[in-house]
Amino acid sequence: MQVYIDGDFFPEGEAKISVFDHGLLYGDGIFEGIRFYNDRVFRLENHIDRLYDSAKAILLTIPLTREEMTRAVIDTIAKNDLHDGYVRLIVTRGAGTLGISPYRCEKASVIVIASTITLYPADTYEKGLILATCSTRRPRHDTLSPAVKSLNYLSNIMAKVEAMAAGAEEGVMLNAEGYVAECTGDNIFIVKDGTVFTPTVASGSLYGITRQVVMELVEKTGLPLKEIEMTRYDLYTADELFLTGTAAEVVPVSEYDKRKIGDGKAGPVTKRLMADFRSLVETTGAPIY
Ligand code: PMP
Repeated sequence: MQVYIDGDFFPEGEAKISVFDHGLLYGDGIFEGIRFYNDRVFRLENHIDRLYDSAKAILLTIPLTREEMTRAVIDTIAKNDLHDGYVRLIVTRGAGTLGISPYRCEKASVIVIASTITLYPADTYEKGLILATCSTRRPRHDTLSPAVKSLNYLSNIMAKVEAMAAGAEEGVMLNAEGYVAECTGDNIFIVKDGTVFTPTVASGSLYGITRQVVMELVEKTGLPLKEIEMTRYDLYTADELFLTGTAAEVVPVSEYDKRKIGDGKAGPVTKRLMADFRSLVETTGAPIY
């Protein structure tokens, strides 16, 4: 595999960054996870926009224009002759001193890794995932905005560990007030009495790109859609519950905190959205070749 670092390609064993990079020392940096299907990069423009928004929020100057960044992603996929897979795009603060000041870091580094991916086994998409609530909360907006897709994933990782210790596959993270924010790596949707609901981004979630796509797909079905402050009770009593994320795509949930969701299988709205999502990803996106 060939990895892009700052304009050059390196074999994966030689793809290295400085031990003084603040991305490593302090998690000072941002990233994107992007899928490509059938020789097209799905929602590439949205990912590039979110990356530059994250950079702006943390005062990080990306040393490439949006066009150059878009090219770097496409070129890295092409260089590896891949047709379906996943791209990890990372911008670190760059090498600096041992102090935390970002102003001592001369130049941000851009890394692009293109690979293949399967997150959950195929039968998960029929049987559904098991979720559990984690005690680790999403950071408040006045700590580190959860909308910034930063390299600081420790709270998500600790939450994931908790979920797994509880015998679940994913963990629900609440915000400081106890409202449902999102899962450790996915956004959350429920269906109740024919209406689709998702927590507001202000509840402490990422502006998920799959979330946005699914909201557009819901609108096309004609079902009402509401962004609300959501509680665990809303999830327990939902007719359907599903998660969205670039890696996971649209994945049904069968059980949450030992409560069976609906009849314990992917419900009709979830199935319809999974199918609509599949046809969208196979037919749209920025061409690679
Ligand atoms: N929330 C978190 C914390 C995530 O890491 C992700 C995955 N990037 C998501 C939500 C889903 O976002 P997207 O659909 O843009 O992948």
